[in-house]
Amino acid sequence: MINVENLSKAFGARTLWRDVNFTVDRGEMLALVGPSGSGKSTLLNCLGLLDRPSAGAIRHEGNDITRFGRREILRFRRTTLGYLFQHYALIENATVAENLDVVTKLRRMPQGKAGTAVAEALDRVGLAGRGAEKIYHLSGGEQQRVALARLVLQRPSLVLADEPTGALDEANATMVVDILRELSKDGCAVVVATHDAEVRDRCDTVFAVHESSLIGSARGETIPS
Ligand code: ATP
Ligand code: MG
Repeated sequence: MINVENLSKAFGARTLWRDVNFTVDRGEMLALVGPSGSGKSTLLNCLGLLDRPSAGAIRHEGNDITRFGRREILRFRRTTLGYLFQHYALIENATVAENLDVVTKLRRMPQGKAGTAVAEALDRVGLAGRGAEKIYHLSGGEQQRVALARLVLQRPSLVLADEPTGALDEANATMVVDILRELSKDGCAVVVATHDAEVRDRCDTVFAVHESSLIGSARGETIPS
């Protein structure tokens, strides 16, 4: 799905990370860990084409996405990529359903089908029947679930999540990881930057950004966070 090859990032004279190499396939979840400031978000943003690496390649279906032009970037965002942030990135003053309609319209779903798809996505994240509520009335955990419902509707093949449980209590955090795992089981590749040990432990692979090294999560190494 995604092959990261000898990727490096420097800001001026400061090298953030160098020679980053990993692969994430469909069905897999990879955690990016490392102390604050080690460059997890920057790496995620390079994968999402919001930032450019200084050297190396990110291959998707054989193409180096870091060399994409504007049109290819837009297409990659529309067809392949889904983002999940710590602070949900929803339209606060709109309803749950209106936020999700943004995706059904982008995907040009006919109205009847869109209504069913929205209802199913809400059901899947435990928010059945809550479509008419305003986003600002929802709790943080509920808002993150709306963001997840948006991903479910969007069906991206690559999900990039930056501290998706950072603002949540344990029960909501668990639910968010459950749904990310389900998305990966459905054939999505998931990369998640996280300080959260529970999230890390439920990933298939762990990449320590500060050491540029892969750690098998099954080995249960202690990682500074
Ligand atoms: P946290 O765990 O706190 O979220 P992080 O691992 O995600 O941290 P990043 O947000 O990727 O770390 O930031 C890594 C470093 O890169 C920081 O020191 C930041 O100041 C620096 N940095 C990020 N963007 C730029 C930029 N455009 N110019 C210069 N420095 C930058
Ligand atoms: Mg970060």
